[in-house]
Amino acid sequence: MSTDERYCFIGEWYDSQASMTRTYQVLFYPSDNSIEMFDVKTRRTFLKRTKNEAAKLTDFFIGNTINIFSRSIKIVDFGDAFTARCIGRNQERTLAIIKPDAIRNLGDIVSTIYENGFTIARMRMIKLSQNEIMYFYGEHKAKDFFPRLVEFMISGPIVAIELVGSDAINRWRSIIGPTDSQKAKEQGSHLLRARFGTDGTRNALHGSDSATSAQREISFFFGSKYGTNTACYNDTTCCLIKPHAVAEGKAGQIINAILIAGFQISAIGTYSLDKVNAEEFLEVYKGVVHEYPKMVEELMSGACIVLEVRSQNAQAVFRDFCGPADPEIARHIRPRTLRALYGKDKVKNAVHCTDLAEDATLEVEYFFRILDN
Ligand code: AMP
Repeated sequence: MSTDERYCFIGEWYDSQASMTRTYQVLFYPSDNSIEMFDVKTRRTFLKRTKNEAAKLTDFFIGNTINIFSRSIKIVDFGDAFTARCIGRNQERTLAIIKPDAIRNLGDIVSTIYENGFTIARMRMIKLSQNEIMYFYGEHKAKDFFPRLVEFMISGPIVAIELVGSDAINRWRSIIGPTDSQKAKEQGSHLLRARFGTDGTRNALHGSDSATSAQREISFFFGSKYGTNTACYNDTTCCLIKPHAVAEGKAGQIINAILIAGFQISAIGTYSLDKVNAEEFLEVYKGVVHEYPKMVEELMSGACIVLEVRSQNAQAVFRDFCGPADPEIARHIRPRTLRALYGKDKVKNAVHCTDLAEDATLEVEYFFRILDN
């Protein structure tokens, strides 16, 4: 790697004090993980070239929000032709759908996504109406399997995932295998449709077939109001997979552990919290827990995955399953808990769960009612 290799992006930051969006040129130097920023309007240096150990080139993709010295900067474009050419090639996008028959395999599928080097840009569990499904699959309207397909796709929740990676469209299709799950089984037991599908309709997963379809399908699920989230707000509690655990590719294993333990995941979404949101969400810990400022920093350091977890007495039972807040202690006294298995320290402890029974619905609502709107 050349020591002066640098990539240029356009980033936006919402300045809540001035109630305006500021635009920056954001330069990233992979050789020493440093970042430099210029205010586009005033043409002034905003941040001198400064090391930021947490920054990774793979985080710089359009649509992602990156935490740069406590500011949530949203990457909105490439800043020069060199960056567009070099980075754009590695950042193809595709749409994956986990269909109703594979929802119970969500953890394994998310793990496979990470093992294959994809980034999950956005993910949401939704239910589509019959009309929405018919519109989404409009090109198949005249086919004999169409009624079967529509009936299947409205039979339960689905999870839409925007994947980013090199050659994402073709690679994702080759990981899931042919449309007919029986053919997939003949081609290889590792193929996702072979593992989780049954036939040509109940085939567990979807993958966009071209760049044009990917664009249309991503904006259907993430750029419009189609579908409603599946949060149900009763017998539920909130689980937030923290940014460090998401970045380390552990989200699939965590989801798997939650499902194997018998909890239902009734809603899911990705969120990038800014400072105001992170402070608001963690407000109950302010002045109570010594680590509060660091907890806020962690929460706004990257994307998190939020789950609505459902069971009888969900808040107490799930909190117990997460284990002591300090993973070191958890590893000694409760080695099978989520924090013992996936946490690093008291702040990067893999998951946040609702600590007080009376807050469970409020925390779930914070994401799926307030931030979603
Ligand atoms: P595609 O747009 O090719 O991914 O097709 C959309 C979905 O329609 C597939 O994932 C299947 O669920 C369904 N489908 C496609 N072809 C058939 C078929 N020959 N028989 C039954 N279902 C099909």
